[in-house]
Amino acid sequence: MWDKRCPGNLISEGETHALIRECSAADKVQSIISDTVFDRSGGNPFFAVRANGATVWDVDDNEYIDYVGTWGPAILGHAPQVVVDAVQKAAVQGTSFGIPNTLEVRMAELVVNSVPSVEKVRMCNSGTEATMSAIRLARGFTKRSKIIKFEGCYHGHVDSLLVKAGSGALTLGQPDSAGVPPEFTSQTIVLPFNDVEAVRRAFAEHGADIAGIILEPVPANAGLYLPCDGYLEFLQEITTRHESLLIFDEVMTGFRLGLKGAQGRFGITPDLSCFGKVIGGGLPVGAFGGRSEIMDCLAPDGPVYQAGTLSGNPLAMAAGISVLEALSDGSVYDKIDSLGKALSDGLAWAAESAGVAVQLQRIGSMACCYFTDTPVHNMVDAMKSDRERFSKYFHGMLEAGVYVAPSQFEAGFISAAHDEAAIERTIEVAARVMKTL
Ligand SMILES: *Cc1c(COP(=O)(O)O)cnc(C)c1O
Repeated sequence: MWDKRCPGNLISEGETHALIRECSAADKVQSIISDTVFDRSGGNPFFAVRANGATVWDVDDNEYIDYVGTWGPAILGHAPQVVVDAVQKAAVQGTSFGIPNTLEVRMAELVVNSVPSVEKVRMCNSGTEATMSAIRLARGFTKRSKIIKFEGCYHGHVDSLLVKAGSGALTLGQPDSAGVPPEFTSQTIVLPFNDVEAVRRAFAEHGADIAGIILEPVPANAGLYLPCDGYLEFLQEITTRHESLLIFDEVMTGFRLGLKGAQGRFGITPDLSCFGKVIGGGLPVGAFGGRSEIMDCLAPDGPVYQAGTLSGNPLAMAAGISVLEALSDGSVYDKIDSLGKALSDGLAWAAESAGVAVQLQRIGSMACCYFTDTPVHNMVDAMKSDRERFSKYFHGMLEAGVYVAPSQFEAGFISAAHDEAAIERTIEVAARVMKTL
């Protein structure tokens, strides 16, 4: 957010840090970063001017090995040539049409051909729009009102889903957002993740009113934890039995954990799926899709309204297509998954050598290092981690040129632009920093 009371240009070279100090970054410059660990520990947020491959540069030309990857989308690294070329080429053809276009069709083809559960897909402009529309569609299709969500699962800033939503809200220690009237969340049932009995009880009590369950199949917005064996199968079975819908929010995991996303890894067929992040190639995109029978309820064919001025935007489509095509032979996943393993093994070693208790959680190219000695299977477990320790770790890493997500409750990402040298350097730095904790 820009605050006119704050003098000078905040992104002018060199002076930035001084300006931020003067302006008290927390309330003047509201980025996700200034809102998180920098507030708590008094450090200064850095302002990026440039990012390429696995590297980000700040305004003072310091460089960092980046494990945030613009919060997930940068699976090929920052500004990969294929994306830059595709966006430039698309831009000269027109930056927005508001008319169905061939790029949007190509994107739909790529998603539908890749993810078996998705027979039809609709593009929108963010992950938030995707989940918001998917739950409206689930309600319209089933003619029921209630939605089950899980603690620590984040589905964007949709009013009705901003309950125990992890991510930024969790980092700020306010699991429920102000500005959301209780009536808006009264149809949302919030349950602990990985708890079969809780879901059974909810269906026993409200079964006939439950339109669907929405979840991150691999929750990655309260750190990272995995579904227990059989849990996703159970959710599929119970929703099928009660004729409510299983909605996978794969905004983070879609095309990140493989071409079929988390559903491919775990062999589950959800009714609806939400996408974003990777499929936008770094531009603003979301999408949702699923069984034709359900998707046909959307306007204009059906009664569930959904629209967007910039949906199917040619620049975003071109960027996303270029990424999905680069991913299509699967080789990128082999690379980033093995780098992910090398990094998390290395971090586990660094922590152990320093006598620091951590839970190193990983799936594919996503990982999280919780500073706790107890296993993490849900949000309550995640909350046991030592956030002061995390904060020290974060700042130690940053000072040494490694940028990890500025919150204990975010996952880190490896891209195809990372290499063994970057991973080794990161492990060396971590080994040094862990010893100071
Ligand atoms: C990031 C994210 C969203 C929200 O996407 P935006 O593009 O930020 O609106 C929704 N669900 C999940 C699982 C996410 O990781």
